[in-house]
Amino acid sequence: DTVLLEVNHLQTSFFSHFGEVKAVRHVDMKLNKGEVIGVVGESGSGKSVTAMSILKLLQNTGKIVGGQILFKGEDLANKSEKEMRRIRGNEISMIFQDPMTSLNPVITVGEQIIETIREHQGLSRKEAREKAIKLLKLVKIPDAEKRMSNYPFEFSGGMRQRVMIAIALCCEPDLLIADEPTTALDVTTQSQILKLMKSLKSEFNMSIMLITHDLGVVADICTRIVVMYGGMVMEEGSAEDIFYQPKHPYTLGLLQSVPRSEMDQQKRLTPIKGSPPNLVNPPKGCPFAPRCDYAMGICAEACPDYTELSNGHRSMCWLLHKDAPVEGNPFLQGI
Ligand code: SF4
Ligand code: MG
Repeated sequence: DTVLLEVNHLQTSFFSHFGEVKAVRHVDMKLNKGEVIGVVGESGSGKSVTAMSILKLLQNTGKIVGGQILFKGEDLANKSEKEMRRIRGNEISMIFQDPMTSLNPVITVGEQIIETIREHQGLSRKEAREKAIKLLKLVKIPDAEKRMSNYPFEFSGGMRQRVMIAIALCCEPDLLIADEPTTALDVTTQSQILKLMKSLKSEFNMSIMLITHDLGVVADICTRIVVMYGGMVMEEGSAEDIFYQPKHPYTLGLLQSVPRSEMDQQKRLTPIKGSPPNLVNPPKGCPFAPRCDYAMGICAEACPDYTELSNGHRSMCWLLHKDAPVEGNPFLQGI
Protein backbone atom coordinates (compact mmCIF):
# COMPACT_ATOMS: atom_id res chain seq x y z
CA ASP A 1 0.00 0.00 0.00
CA THR A 2 1.22 3.49 -0.83
CA VAL A 3 0.78 6.02 1.97
CA LEU A 4 -0.82 9.22 0.67
CA LEU A 5 -1.28 11.15 3.89
CA GLU A 6 0.36 10.75 7.26
CA VAL A 7 -0.56 13.03 10.14
CA ASN A 8 1.80 12.82 13.12
CA HIS A 9 1.10 14.35 16.53
CA LEU A 10 -0.89 17.19 15.02
CA GLN A 11 -1.69 20.04 17.40
CA THR A 12 -3.77 23.02 16.31
CA SER A 13 -4.87 25.90 18.52
CA PHE A 14 -6.96 29.04 18.21
CA PHE A 15 -5.77 32.14 20.02
CA SER A 16 -8.23 34.71 21.33
CA HIS A 17 -8.62 36.93 24.35
CA PHE A 18 -10.19 33.95 26.14
CA GLY A 19 -6.87 32.19 25.84
CA GLU A 20 -5.59 29.30 23.77
CA VAL A 21 -8.28 26.91 22.56
CA LYS A 22 -6.54 23.58 22.03
CA ALA A 23 -8.90 22.28 19.36
CA VAL A 24 -6.57 19.51 18.19
CA ARG A 25 -4.25 18.16 20.85
CA HIS A 26 -2.99 14.89 19.48
CA VAL A 27 -3.97 13.42 16.16
CA ASP A 28 -2.14 10.69 14.29
CA MET A 29 -3.59 9.09 11.21
CA LYS A 30 -2.48 7.42 8.03
CA LEU A 31 -4.36 7.22 4.77
CA ASN A 32 -3.33 4.94 1.92
CA LYS A 33 -3.95 5.57 -1.75
CA GLY A 34 -7.48 4.56 -2.72
CA GLU A 35 -8.56 4.11 0.91
CA VAL A 36 -11.58 5.67 2.64
CA ILE A 37 -11.00 6.70 6.23
CA GLY A 38 -13.86 7.75 8.51
CA VAL A 39 -13.21 10.40 11.15
CA VAL A 40 -16.00 10.16 13.70
CA GLY A 41 -16.92 12.08 16.84
CA GLU A 42 -19.39 14.57 18.27
CA SER A 43 -19.20 18.17 17.22
CA GLY A 44 -16.33 19.91 18.97
CA SER A 45 -14.14 16.81 18.94
CA GLY A 46 -11.63 18.38 16.54
CA LYS A 47 -12.58 16.59 13.30
CA SER A 48 -13.15 19.67 11.16
CA VAL A 49 -10.16 21.46 12.62
CA THR A 50 -8.03 18.46 11.67
CA ALA A 51 -9.34 18.74 8.09
CA MET A 52 -8.82 22.50 7.99
CA SER A 53 -5.27 22.01 9.30
CA ILE A 54 -4.51 19.57 6.48
CA LEU A 55 -5.78 22.12 3.95
CA LYS A 56 -4.25 25.00 5.93
CA LEU A 57 -7.57 26.82 5.78
CA LEU A 58 -7.58 27.86 9.44
CA GLN A 59 -8.95 31.29 10.28
CA ASN A 60 -6.44 33.99 11.19
CA THR A 61 -6.60 33.03 14.84
CA GLY A 62 -5.84 29.37 14.14
CA LYS A 63 -2.34 27.94 14.07
CA ILE A 64 -0.71 24.55 13.71
CA VAL A 65 1.44 24.49 16.85
CA GLY A 66 2.94 21.05 16.53
CA GLY A 67 3.28 17.92 14.46
CA GLN A 68 3.56 17.00 10.82
CA ILE A 69 1.15 16.63 7.92
CA LEU A 70 2.97 14.51 5.37
CA PHE A 71 1.19 14.50 2.01
CA LYS A 72 3.02 12.43 -0.60
CA GLY A 73 5.97 12.62 1.78
CA GLU A 74 6.08 16.42 2.01
CA ASP A 75 5.13 18.31 5.15
CA LEU A 76 2.19 20.62 4.41
CA ALA A 77 2.73 22.36 7.76
CA ASN A 78 5.77 24.10 6.19
CA LYS A 79 4.20 24.99 2.84
CA SER A 80 3.61 28.60 1.82
CA GLU A 81 0.11 29.85 1.01
CA LYS A 82 1.07 29.93 -2.67
CA GLU A 83 2.08 26.26 -2.64
CA MET A 84 -1.03 25.38 -0.66
CA ARG A 85 -3.23 27.07 -3.25
CA ARG A 86 -1.73 24.84 -5.92
CA ILE A 87 -2.25 21.73 -3.78
CA ARG A 88 -5.85 22.70 -2.90
CA GLY A 89 -6.70 23.22 -6.54
CA ASN A 90 -5.03 20.11 -7.91
CA GLU A 91 -4.43 17.44 -5.33
CA ILE A 92 -6.81 17.86 -2.41
CA SER A 93 -10.49 18.82 -2.78
CA MET A 94 -13.08 19.37 -0.11
CA ILE A 95 -16.85 19.23 0.14
CA PHE A 96 -18.96 20.48 3.05
CA GLN A 97 -22.33 19.92 4.65
CA ASP A 98 -24.08 22.82 2.97
CA PRO A 99 -23.37 23.19 -0.76
CA MET A 100 -25.28 26.49 -0.83
CA THR A 101 -22.47 28.22 1.03
CA SER A 102 -19.88 27.16 -1.56
CA LEU A 103 -21.97 27.72 -4.70
CA ASN A 104 -22.54 31.17 -6.14
CA PRO A 105 -26.33 31.68 -6.19
CA VAL A 106 -26.34 34.05 -9.18
CA ILE A 107 -24.17 32.02 -11.56
CA THR A 108 -25.44 28.93 -13.37
CA VAL A 109 -24.11 25.60 -12.21
CA GLY A 110 -22.59 24.92 -15.63
CA GLU A 111 -20.71 28.21 -15.60
CA GLN A 112 -19.32 27.48 -12.12
CA ILE A 113 -17.99 24.11 -13.18
CA ILE A 114 -16.52 25.50 -16.41
CA GLU A 115 -14.80 28.25 -14.40
CA THR A 116 -13.25 25.74 -12.01
CA ILE A 117 -12.04 23.55 -14.85
CA ARG A 118 -10.49 26.47 -16.70
CA GLU A 119 -8.81 27.77 -13.57
CA HIS A 120 -6.91 24.53 -13.14
CA GLN A 121 -6.49 23.19 -16.63
CA GLY A 122 -5.53 24.98 -19.80
CA LEU A 123 -8.70 23.98 -21.66
CA SER A 124 -10.67 26.03 -24.16
CA ARG A 125 -14.21 27.09 -23.23
CA LYS A 126 -15.66 24.46 -25.50
CA GLU A 127 -13.48 21.68 -24.08
CA ALA A 128 -14.23 22.82 -20.52
CA ARG A 129 -17.96 22.77 -21.27
CA GLU A 130 -17.74 19.24 -22.60
CA LYS A 131 -15.81 18.16 -19.54
CA ALA A 132 -18.36 19.86 -17.25
CA ILE A 133 -21.22 17.92 -18.86
CA LYS A 134 -19.22 14.73 -18.52
CA LEU A 135 -18.71 15.42 -14.81
CA LEU A 136 -22.41 16.10 -14.23
CA LYS A 137 -23.19 12.78 -15.93
CA LEU A 138 -20.55 11.08 -13.82
CA VAL A 139 -22.23 12.26 -10.61
CA LYS A 140 -25.52 11.03 -12.09
CA ILE A 141 -27.40 14.27 -12.58
CA PRO A 142 -30.23 13.52 -15.01
CA ASP A 143 -30.42 15.69 -18.15
CA ALA A 144 -26.89 16.89 -17.47
CA GLU A 145 -26.66 19.04 -20.57
CA LYS A 146 -29.90 20.87 -19.85
CA ARG A 147 -29.08 21.27 -16.16
CA MET A 148 -25.92 23.22 -17.05
CA SER A 149 -28.00 26.39 -17.43
CA ASN A 150 -29.81 26.03 -14.09
CA TYR A 151 -29.00 28.04 -10.97
CA PRO A 152 -28.13 26.33 -7.66
CA PHE A 153 -31.58 27.01 -6.12
CA GLU A 154 -33.17 25.01 -8.93
CA PHE A 155 -31.50 21.84 -7.60
CA SER A 156 -32.60 19.74 -4.62
CA GLY A 157 -30.24 19.37 -1.66
CA GLY A 158 -29.01 15.99 -2.88
CA MET A 159 -28.50 17.21 -6.44
CA ARG A 160 -26.59 20.24 -5.15
CA GLN A 161 -24.27 17.96 -3.22
CA ARG A 162 -23.73 16.03 -6.48
CA VAL A 163 -22.80 19.33 -8.16
CA MET A 164 -20.29 20.00 -5.38
CA ILE A 165 -18.79 16.56 -5.89
CA ALA A 166 -18.53 17.27 -9.64
CA ILE A 167 -16.68 20.51 -8.86
CA ALA A 168 -14.41 18.71 -6.41
CA LEU A 169 -13.56 16.18 -9.15
CA CYS A 170 -12.60 18.85 -11.72
CA CYS A 171 -8.93 18.54 -10.83
CA GLU A 172 -9.00 14.76 -10.36
CA PRO A 173 -7.79 15.03 -6.76
CA ASP A 174 -5.77 12.37 -4.96
CA LEU A 175 -7.61 13.17 -1.76
CA LEU A 176 -11.19 14.23 -1.22
CA ILE A 177 -12.05 15.55 2.23
CA ALA A 178 -15.80 15.38 2.86
CA ASP A 179 -16.96 17.12 6.05
CA GLU A 180 -20.48 15.97 7.02
CA PRO A 181 -21.42 15.73 3.31
CA THR A 182 -24.75 14.02 3.95
CA THR A 183 -25.79 15.49 7.29
CA ALA A 184 -28.34 17.88 5.78
CA LEU A 185 -29.91 15.18 3.59
CA ASP A 186 -32.72 12.69 4.20
CA VAL A 187 -31.78 9.05 4.75
CA THR A 188 -32.46 7.88 1.19
CA THR A 189 -30.55 10.73 -0.44
CA GLN A 190 -27.77 10.23 2.08
CA SER A 191 -27.26 6.62 1.06
CA GLN A 192 -27.33 7.55 -2.65
CA ILE A 193 -24.60 10.15 -2.14
CA LEU A 194 -22.46 7.70 -0.16
CA LYS A 195 -22.91 5.10 -2.88
CA LEU A 196 -21.84 7.65 -5.46
CA MET A 197 -18.74 8.57 -3.47
CA LYS A 198 -17.86 4.91 -3.16
CA SER A 199 -18.09 4.30 -6.91
CA LEU A 200 -16.15 7.46 -7.76
CA LYS A 201 -13.43 6.43 -5.35
CA SER A 202 -12.82 3.23 -7.30
CA GLU A 203 -13.12 4.97 -10.63
CA PHE A 204 -10.52 7.64 -9.77
CA ASN A 205 -8.45 5.57 -7.31
CA MET A 206 -8.88 8.53 -5.00
CA SER A 207 -8.55 8.53 -1.21
CA ILE A 208 -11.40 9.92 0.84
CA MET A 209 -11.48 11.31 4.36
CA LEU A 210 -15.10 11.20 5.47
CA ILE A 211 -15.84 13.31 8.53
CA THR A 212 -19.08 12.68 10.37
CA HIS A 213 -20.72 12.68 13.79
CA ASP A 214 -22.72 9.61 12.72
CA LEU A 215 -21.08 6.19 12.93
CA GLY A 216 -23.92 4.83 10.78
CA VAL A 217 -22.64 6.86 7.82
CA VAL A 218 -19.17 5.33 7.77
CA ALA A 219 -20.21 1.69 8.11
CA ASP A 220 -20.51 0.85 4.40
CA ILE A 221 -17.88 3.02 2.84
CA CYS A 222 -14.88 3.21 5.18
CA THR A 223 -12.12 0.68 5.52
CA ARG A 224 -10.64 2.39 8.57
CA ILE A 225 -12.21 4.52 11.26
CA VAL A 226 -10.68 7.07 13.60
CA VAL A 227 -12.78 8.02 16.64
CA MET A 228 -12.01 11.48 17.99
CA TYR A 229 -12.85 13.19 21.25
CA GLY A 230 -11.54 16.31 22.97
CA GLY A 231 -9.07 16.97 20.15
CA MET A 232 -7.52 13.51 20.37
CA VAL A 233 -7.85 10.13 18.73
CA MET A 234 -9.56 7.83 21.23
CA GLU A 235 -9.60 4.73 19.07
CA GLU A 236 -8.59 3.70 15.59
CA GLY A 237 -9.22 0.49 13.74
CA SER A 238 -10.74 -1.26 10.76
CA ALA A 239 -14.50 -0.86 10.34
CA GLU A 240 -14.87 -4.42 11.77
CA ASP A 241 -12.76 -3.53 14.82
CA ILE A 242 -14.79 -0.42 15.56
CA PHE A 243 -18.21 -1.96 15.01
CA TYR A 244 -17.63 -5.47 16.41
CA GLN A 245 -14.64 -5.15 18.75
CA PRO A 246 -14.82 -1.58 20.08
CA LYS A 247 -12.26 -0.99 22.82
CA HIS A 248 -13.05 2.48 24.09
CA PRO A 249 -16.01 3.60 26.24
CA TYR A 250 -16.53 6.61 23.97
CA THR A 251 -16.81 4.36 20.92
CA LEU A 252 -19.28 2.19 22.86
CA GLY A 253 -21.30 5.30 23.63
CA LEU A 254 -21.34 6.35 19.98
CA LEU A 255 -22.41 2.87 18.90
CA GLN A 256 -25.31 2.92 21.37
CA SER A 257 -26.52 6.19 19.94
CA VAL A 258 -26.60 4.95 16.32
CA PRO A 259 -29.69 3.23 14.93
CA ARG A 260 -28.36 0.00 13.47
CA SER A 261 -31.59 -1.64 12.41
CA GLU A 262 -35.22 -0.82 11.66
CA MET A 263 -36.07 -1.94 15.16
CA ASP A 264 -33.51 0.42 16.66
CA GLN A 265 -35.12 3.26 14.78
CA GLN A 266 -38.39 2.66 16.61
CA LYS A 267 -36.93 2.50 20.07
CA ARG A 268 -35.19 5.31 21.89
CA LEU A 269 -31.45 5.26 21.53
CA THR A 270 -29.20 6.35 24.35
CA PRO A 271 -27.25 9.50 23.66
CA ILE A 272 -24.05 9.89 25.68
CA LYS A 273 -24.88 12.03 28.69
CA GLY A 274 -22.96 15.24 29.36
CA SER A 275 -21.06 17.41 26.92
CA PRO A 276 -17.54 17.60 25.44
CA PRO A 277 -14.69 19.17 27.46
CA ASN A 278 -13.76 22.83 27.46
CA LEU A 279 -10.68 23.02 25.27
CA VAL A 280 -9.41 26.29 26.74
CA ASN A 281 -8.60 24.38 29.87
CA PRO A 282 -8.59 20.74 28.81
CA PRO A 283 -8.65 18.15 31.60
CA LYS A 284 -5.20 16.78 32.34
CA GLY A 285 -6.40 13.19 32.37
CA CYS A 286 -8.57 11.31 29.90
CA PRO A 287 -10.80 13.91 28.21
CA PHE A 288 -13.79 11.55 28.40
CA ALA A 289 -13.46 10.97 32.17
CA PRO A 290 -16.26 13.35 33.28
CA ARG A 291 -18.75 11.45 31.08
CA CYS A 292 -17.39 7.93 31.32
CA ASP A 293 -19.37 5.26 33.21
CA TYR A 294 -16.15 3.31 33.82
CA ALA A 295 -13.91 6.17 35.00
CA MET A 296 -11.45 5.30 37.78
CA GLY A 297 -9.33 7.53 40.00
CA ILE A 298 -6.38 7.51 37.64
CA CYS A 299 -8.51 8.60 34.65
CA ALA A 300 -8.77 12.19 35.89
CA GLU A 301 -5.08 12.28 36.80
CA ALA A 302 -3.28 11.25 33.65
CA CYS A 303 -3.92 10.49 30.01
CA PRO A 304 -3.28 6.82 29.22
CA ASP A 305 -0.96 5.77 26.41
CA TYR A 306 -2.37 4.02 23.39
CA THR A 307 -2.74 0.28 23.72
CA GLU A 308 -2.05 -1.60 20.49
CA LEU A 309 -4.65 -4.34 20.26
CA SER A 310 -4.12 -5.94 16.91
CA ASN A 311 -2.88 -4.90 13.53
CA GLY A 312 -3.73 -1.21 13.30
CA HIS A 313 -6.29 -1.29 16.12
CA ARG A 314 -5.39 1.00 19.01
CA SER A 315 -7.24 2.61 21.84
CA MET A 316 -6.46 5.17 24.54
CA CYS A 317 -8.11 3.90 27.71
CA TRP A 318 -6.91 2.92 31.20
CA LEU A 319 -9.27 -0.08 31.17
CA LEU A 320 -6.89 -1.75 28.74
CA HIS A 321 -3.97 -1.37 31.12
CA LYS A 322 -2.61 -4.64 32.52
CA ASP A 323 -3.49 -3.55 36.08
CA ALA A 324 -7.03 -2.37 35.25
CA PRO A 325 -9.81 -3.80 37.43
CA VAL A 326 -11.56 -6.86 36.06
CA GLU A 327 -14.86 -6.05 37.72
CA GLY A 328 -17.02 -3.75 35.62
CA ASN A 329 -14.46 -3.71 32.82
CA PRO A 330 -16.50 -3.85 29.60
CA PHE A 331 -13.56 -5.13 27.59
CA LEU A 332 -12.89 -8.09 29.85
CA GLN A 333 -16.46 -9.17 30.46
CA GLY A 334 -17.62 -8.95 26.88
CA ILE A 335 -20.07 -6.26 26.04
FE1 SF4 B 1 -13.18 6.05 30.72
FE2 SF4 B 1 -10.90 6.09 32.07
FE3 SF4 B 1 -11.04 4.85 29.72
FE4 SF4 B 1 -11.13 7.50 29.86
S1 SF4 B 1 -9.40 6.20 30.42
S2 SF4 B 1 -12.41 6.22 28.63
S3 SF4 B 1 -12.28 7.80 31.73
S4 SF4 B 1 -12.10 4.30 31.61
MG1 MG C 1 -17.44 19.87 12.05
